[in-house]
Amino acid sequence: MAESLFTPIAYLKGIGPQKAELLKKELQIETYWDLLNHFPFRYINRSQIHQCAQLHLVDGHVQLEGFIDQIQELGGGRSKRLQCRFTDDTASIQLIWFQGWKYIKPALSTGKKYRIFGKPRLNNNFWSIAHPEMVPADESSSIGYQPIYPSTEKLSAKGLNTRGIEKVMGGLLERISLESMQDRLPESIRKEMHLVGIGMAYANIHQPQTEQSFNQAKKRFVFEELFLLQLEMILRKGVRKRTEKGFVFSKSGEILSDFYHNKLPFDLTEAQKRVIREIRKDCQTGQHMNRLLQGDVGSGKTLVALITMLIAQGNKFQSALLAPTEILSAQHYETIVSFLSDLPIRCALLTGSTKRSNRTPLLGALEKGEIDILIGTHALLEDEVVFKNLGLVVIDEQHRFGVAQRAKMRKKNTIAPHVLVMTATPIPRTLAMTFYGDLDVSVIDELPPGRKPIQTIHRYDTHRLQLYAFMREQIALGRQIYVVYPLIEDSETLDFKSLSDGFEAISRAFPLPNYQVSIVHGKLKPEVKEYEMKRFVDGITNIMVATTVIEVGVNVPNATVMVIESAQRFGLSQLHQLRGRVGRGAEKSYCILMTNYELSKEAKKRMETMVETTDGFKIAEVDLSLRGPGDILGTQQSGALNLKMADLSRDQHVVSIAREAALRIYEQDSSLTDPLHLTLRNYMLSLFQNKPQWDKIA
Ligand code: ADP
Ligand code: MG
Repeated sequence: MAESLFTPIAYLKGIGPQKAELLKKELQIETYWDLLNHFPFRYINRSQIHQCAQLHLVDGHVQLEGFIDQIQELGGGRSKRLQCRFTDDTASIQLIWFQGWKYIKPALSTGKKYRIFGKPRLNNNFWSIAHPEMVPADESSSIGYQPIYPSTEKLSAKGLNTRGIEKVMGGLLERISLESMQDRLPESIRKEMHLVGIGMAYANIHQPQTEQSFNQAKKRFVFEELFLLQLEMILRKGVRKRTEKGFVFSKSGEILSDFYHNKLPFDLTEAQKRVIREIRKDCQTGQHMNRLLQGDVGSGKTLVALITMLIAQGNKFQSALLAPTEILSAQHYETIVSFLSDLPIRCALLTGSTKRSNRTPLLGALEKGEIDILIGTHALLEDEVVFKNLGLVVIDEQHRFGVAQRAKMRKKNTIAPHVLVMTATPIPRTLAMTFYGDLDVSVIDELPPGRKPIQTIHRYDTHRLQLYAFMREQIALGRQIYVVYPLIEDSETLDFKSLSDGFEAISRAFPLPNYQVSIVHGKLKPEVKEYEMKRFVDGITNIMVATTVIEVGVNVPNATVMVIESAQRFGLSQLHQLRGRVGRGAEKSYCILMTNYELSKEAKKRMETMVETTDGFKIAEVDLSLRGPGDILGTQQSGALNLKMADLSRDQHVVSIAREAALRIYEQDSSLTDPLHLTLRNYMLSLFQNKPQWDKIA
């Protein structure tokens, strides 16, 4: 008779209490169910065996069959290692272990035939494989795929290496009944997507017999993971909409109307209008708005923010606008004050460098409700910043703020103020669906009219003289120029050197009194930074030499050239952000990427992409395929990246299909109470039992 999936793992043949304890500690495997869900991370195609003499023809991992005919311990102390000679009919290579060899050595024997798997490297004309996976040749059958399971050193020492786990898994599959397992994916969806059932999928993920059956199992799990993730997002959003109350902004107010009709110096783009309608609709319902506004650099998000803040003001609420840097906050403040001109709206700026003598009266006025719009940096998060009636929080460049910081702003009123987060770092649609799937998303997909496209050029360092000549031409035309150097935290000193060397070189090539050069970097005092920045904004300096502190938000329409030094060291989205600092005025603009000749394949692709397109969303797609989602979203969201089979860059098309399927289920049965969805519901509850919001649907 088949055993329950909740049986403790210790009851399994070959496990026992000691190994069970270790499995729990090392891999959090306690029950049959946990073990069943411990998936291989790779498979070896057992039908293909390479030859030692042919390694130069293979890219990546290889599988070899042969004998170990020499075992040596080499080096001493920390560089101690185990080295073996491995020989097949054609040639010999080396196998090397730097760690764990204490366990490995006793298990190896000369004269025995092994099947090994690993990635060969060529060193001094000799091939070697470090830390190969290996099994005795007679234990590996030569059909189908051999699964490789994640394990740990301690487990391997107790015989639970990948091979050991494979054996135990074999025992498990004999004792449970996969055929009678309830399928958590509703049948309608399985049929529609042509997916195999859950029993078949588990069997073939652990013991694939053919490439085809393995692919079917994989397809099923990839879809399932993405489907569940989407369904979770949709359910969370549903819960949030039903339960979270928000302020009602029902009026539009005279000031907004005056601003719109008399003060706005240009027409809004259609995209801006659409987004404002979306925001307005959100804020009228009595539900809480939690909206992400994505729009490429220069698409006019600030104005959308301002209009939203005027809507709040028209309904007697205060607003806060949060920006990541002092420069950006100050610029927002100035932009907004000049947009508003003589309208009776009271704005204030609060940053870390606001003096106590200004701060105290400002905070007093804020608490009395005498300030309508407060703009500033992280300083706004402080407890001493108390609003009379905060109704809206706008967060610019949201990726610079953490979840905790956003939460802090939400607590500044009895009901959470509406939240509008803005980002100029476009996120590919599929990622946005996955990670911001519980937010409402608006997109400004149109730039204001009259912008001249930016021409992007890639040049090697040896062309610096031509670059300087071009810069002189532009300055002679009255334009201004940014020259940006990389700044990466762990090599700050080095980068500082390249920045100050660069500054010197440029000062020499562009000498006083004909030219004025500014320098701005993170180590400067805020006052100095501000002063230098202002000289550039006011058109006094021709060239701004800077680190990426100018990356976000700064707006100087007369600047037409962005030179990026050591451009290979920047990521795509950063390059795109930097480029967005130019092309803001009526004149044609240029972005010049300076690199050396030695570019990695990836760096080359980044340069090519920048030269080819200025579309932020396209750039984001390439970025995703180059770096993978983890690097793009940062570690903050990595919890949600707990996908075993699905890969968000490879499986982008599945994300959309899975979302549609999840939406359909939600529309039919938003509480998952239909008996057809019972297994799905229970499965989701078990997956998400530690996540608080979910149980509200129960
Ligand atoms: P971002 O979306 O990068 O924050 P900004 O809000 O700084 O962009 O806007 C970039 C520039 O475009 C600003 O100078 C702004 O005044 C201008 N702008 C915004 N909306 C429009 C529009 N509808 N028509 C013309 N110019 C606009
Ligand atoms: Mg902006």
